[in-house]
Amino acid sequence: MALKADLKHFLDEEGKVLALTEQAETVFKFLSEIVMSVSKHIKQPLIEIDLVAVDLKCNTRAEQLTCDGNIEARCISTRVIEWHCDTCEAVGTISNWQGSMWDKQQHTIH
Ligand SMILES: [Zn+2]
Repeated sequence: MALKADLKHFLDEEGKVLALTEQAETVFKFLSEIVMSVSKHIKQPLIEIDLVAVDLKCNTRAEQLTCDGNIEARCISTRVIEWHCDTCEAVGTISNWQGSMWDKQQHTIH
């Protein structure tokens, strides 16, 4: 079962992180780390994005997980980042991450 996450659900209208429950905060830290790692590797125009090794263990996305697989992620479209664990079945997508403070794309100034 894929975990579909929308970064906007964690943020207020100004893009600041909402007061989260401990569980949601754990998930959010995991997601924002993926967004930072992947967006750093995005080059425009978006043609092909290689799989990015994210410096995260699978078990950091929630309490009581024992999988110590590594997380890999890539941008599957201009709007969606997809991540998966290289060891277990865990997969997910992240949307609405662009323009957030975790978006590390190099913006070209025209
Ligand atoms: Zn895993």
